[in-house]
Amino acid sequence: MLIVKKFGGTSVADKERIMNVAKRCIRDYQAGNDVIVVLSAMGKQTDVLIDMAKDINPNPGRRELDMLLTTGEQTSVALMAMAMDVLGVPAVSLNAFQVAMHTTSAYGNARLKRIDTERIRHELDSRKIVIVTGFQGVNKYDDFTTLGRGGSDTTAVALAAALHADKCEIYTDVDGVYTADPRIVKKARKMKEITYDEMLDLATLGAGVLHNRSVELAKKYGVQLVVRSSLNEEEGTIVKEDVKVERMLVSGVAADKNVTRISVVGLQDKPGMAFRMFDALAKANINVDMILQSIGRDNSKDISFTIPRDMTDDALKALEDKKDVLGAQEIKCKTNVAKVSIVGAGMMSNPGVAAKMFECLYNSNININMISTSEIRVTVLIDEADVEKAMNAVHDSFGLED
Ligand code: ADP
Ligand code: ASP
Ligand code: MG
Repeated sequence: MLIVKKFGGTSVADKERIMNVAKRCIRDYQAGNDVIVVLSAMGKQTDVLIDMAKDINPNPGRRELDMLLTTGEQTSVALMAMAMDVLGVPAVSLNAFQVAMHTTSAYGNARLKRIDTERIRHELDSRKIVIVTGFQGVNKYDDFTTLGRGGSDTTAVALAAALHADKCEIYTDVDGVYTADPRIVKKARKMKEITYDEMLDLATLGAGVLHNRSVELAKKYGVQLVVRSSLNEEEGTIVKEDVKVERMLVSGVAADKNVTRISVVGLQDKPGMAFRMFDALAKANINVDMILQSIGRDNSKDISFTIPRDMTDDALKALEDKKDVLGAQEIKCKTNVAKVSIVGAGMMSNPGVAAKMFECLYNSNININMISTSEIRVTVLIDEADVEKAMNAVHDSFGLED
């Protein structure tokens, strides 16, 4: 069997954890399997590196930032190979260049395009455990890129797809995928199985347990995922196309604090305004999420929308540059907001789910700033300070606890 095993930062945070992971991988190897190990940077090393960069230059260039961040993963793979060596098992560490993992050129947010498999195959054929850096790639300029925060999951799934692995296991610091972040909602329940679609929505809406692109890729290539803990032997959660268990009305609650709300006030009420505004944001590579336009009044209208908080400065700059063309009176920005979402395939045929969520927030005296919905989710924008209260209340009201 070919097994891809991915371990996140907490799982390789120190010497003991690295040895623990090494032993776990060796167990599979000694059972006769081919083993590929994908690692994140140790502990919070990626955050440490970002802080170091910002200390020297508050606005570091994205190319140089990626050059710096990729050292985190390079450290952990080399140490892991040394750990396996000490345990008497042949292993080799490879970075994105050595594999070659080709990506688009967007530093900081690159997408994997193609993975060369010869080198890995060759190393596996010589019975080595192959340890690959997560999170990083190489672009057409022969520069390092990174896949966005949490991107090591995507590296693992992409490798599993490219090499037709029999298993892809994502090891983390929780026992699996829960109905809500177990750090925030103490009563959250571990799910045995979850569909790609529901997991994709949860991941996109802030459930950081899996990088959303990893779920997208898993669905596209039919890679079944197991999310489980590196610290115990619990079974974990299987992410796949169809699940056996009966569909719940709501399967999970997620929150995302990486949000800013921007309101452009007093736009001219004529065709083309929304296009000009969102085109300027798209050209600055800013993903816009919830959008709300007021009804035109006195020949003017307002448009509010949300963006990732770490893009706030870029978005404001792009809009200020266009302020005159848009004839906007004012651009307002609120950063202390967050999205709370419920996700569930069962919602599709059940009216009243959104109303129930709103009632629950009302009972908790939480004000809703914006709302957006799809067939299988409802998202509200609320004050960041209310997130924990909202998640727990919503989780309770849909009966998601054990
Ligand atoms: P890793 O470093 O292993 O990739 P992450 O921190 O990226 O770990 O992801 C694991 C964390 O995701 C958990 O510690 C948990 O707090 C958080 N999380 C958010 N939503 C969920 C959820 N629905 N189920 C499980 N964990 C979740
Ligand atoms: N080390 C990277 C991060 O912290 C990638 C990952 O952990 O998946 O975002
Ligand atoms: Mg992660």
